[in-house]
Amino acid sequence: MTGENATSWSNRISDERGRRVIFLAHCLLNENTRYLGGARRAGAVPELVRPLLDQGIGIVQLPCPEQHAWGGVLKRRLLLFYGSEGKLRYRLRGTLLPIMLWYTRRIYRKLARQTAKQIGDYQRSGVEVVGIFGVDASPSCGVFKSLDMRDALERTARLDQGTATAEEANRIVLETVVPGRGLFTELLEEELEKRGLRIPWKAHDLIAELQSGG
Ligand code: SF4
Repeated sequence: MTGENATSWSNRISDERGRRVIFLAHCLLNENTRYLGGARRAGAVPELVRPLLDQGIGIVQLPCPEQHAWGGVLKRRLLLFYGSEGKLRYRLRGTLLPIMLWYTRRIYRKLARQTAKQIGDYQRSGVEVVGIFGVDASPSCGVFKSLDMRDALERTARLDQGTATAEEANRIVLETVVPGRGLFTELLEEELEKRGLRIPWKAHDLIAELQSGG
């Protein structure tokens, strides 16, 4: 069906749709994909989601890039580094980390392309994309703040599997935050730019959420 034809049908058969959507980082609607220790809410972040519902803005959930690249909901490939100090995989990290980064970039690029296409489709369909919400202090979805991943991994290697706590895991995040974009954000920006799409970025502050205590 041509674009013109679809627009004509869409104008003809009108309904209650608000023609405004916002894209939210996956974990803002589902904290079950956060790194272990990082979930401060049982499911969605209500203080962020409720006002959007009240304003009649449609919510589109972005993929969780770490879930896709790092081994599912529990990010099992990342967990291999936890408590690894002194083990063979720790000694091989100089080889393993660049491979992991290459693979991560490849998967993130694919997800960023799919997301940019989806955003373009909304715009062409007469639906305004009012923003994209990332998560500051995430090495993947950070907008203004990311993580020094090398430093964070060195610290996770020192965690003790017998005694590690959520507080310890979160201290690693608090102490390794750096300014800048997360990798998925960076690649999504590039893909949007290639398609001439300019969408305002917003950030949920993970650090503030962690410090809010629940
Ligand atoms: S910040 Fe991004 S990568 Fe991290 S859990 Fe949320 S959606 Fe996944």
